[in-house]
Amino acid sequence: MEEKLKSLAEEAKQEVEEAATLNQLSNLRVKYLGKKGHLTSILRGMGSLSTEERPKIGALANEIRSDLEILISNRTRELKHQEKEKRMASETIDVTLPGKPFLMGNKHPLTKIQQEIESIFLGMGFNIAEGPEVELDYYNFEALNLPKDHPARDMQDTFFINPEVLLRTHTSPVQVRTMEKTVPELPVKIICPGRVYRRDDDATHSPMFTQVEGLAIDKRITFSDLKGLLAVFARQMFGPDTKTRFRPSYFPFTEPSAEVDISCVMCGGEGCRVCSQTGWLEILGCGMVHPRVLEMSGYNPEEVTGFAFGMGIERIAMLKYGIDDLRLFYDNDLRFLAQF
Ligand SMILES: [Zn+2]
Repeated sequence: MEEKLKSLAEEAKQEVEEAATLNQLSNLRVKYLGKKGHLTSILRGMGSLSTEERPKIGALANEIRSDLEILISNRTRELKHQEKEKRMASETIDVTLPGKPFLMGNKHPLTKIQQEIESIFLGMGFNIAEGPEVELDYYNFEALNLPKDHPARDMQDTFFINPEVLLRTHTSPVQVRTMEKTVPELPVKIICPGRVYRRDDDATHSPMFTQVEGLAIDKRITFSDLKGLLAVFARQMFGPDTKTRFRPSYFPFTEPSAEVDISCVMCGGEGCRVCSQTGWLEILGCGMVHPRVLEMSGYNPEEVTGFAFGMGIERIAMLKYGIDDLRLFYDNDLRFLAQF
């Protein structure tokens, strides 16, 4: 029996040393030390031994078991180490390889135009003001001289959350909110860029679009200040040769009111398809702030005057870039967006 054990130990030792993978090692552990392994099956025959031999063989068996355990765990460590070395060698990073290029986005055309407009007016001393898109009826209509039964509300039909809360139809409520906050300080000089909503949907109208409005209030502000400011804006936005034209118009919150045209960006005023042969393109609405609007926001219309103007950013972008369908701005088509 002693012979059997010793030769088993030799055999096991050799196999463990030759094992090339962790998997083989774990199979060897089962083969020799497992419940149904060789060592166990030899020890099962111990019953036939004499009482003197039994402890001797028992001690030898234990020694072989613990030697084998140590051998296997040493070999395991070795193999793990080798595998790691191999992986390190095969996974070396070549830092001189060229990098993978990643796609750089660019600004959305509407963002670009908005920032351009902002920078022109910031340059002329205006501040930027913002306000909520979900607005009270009071700020969107009433405080702008559009009481509940006013027919001009139809021009700006919108999405109502409840009878008093709606999606704002213009950024003018920001003007009212700013006036309320600023009164009685002077001057007020702000532009309000932002999203607005109306119930329109076709090639030149979208239920959601973006506007920039401007407001200036001070003592002795006149219509010529407004004309001069917008002429400068048009020249900076569309080029130094751009002419402006003011046509009388109507808005409930300004009096007098005007619509502003610029000389056609395509033909320079000669007449073409884009300007319907007129040589002019409408870009914005404006006027002197209605005395009632000033009054409602706390200013005394006997002492101060002001002007306001508003334009659609989409319209400006369409004219500047020669785009004929407004919906392209919202389609998220990279073939379109990558051109700017
Ligand atoms: Zn034209």
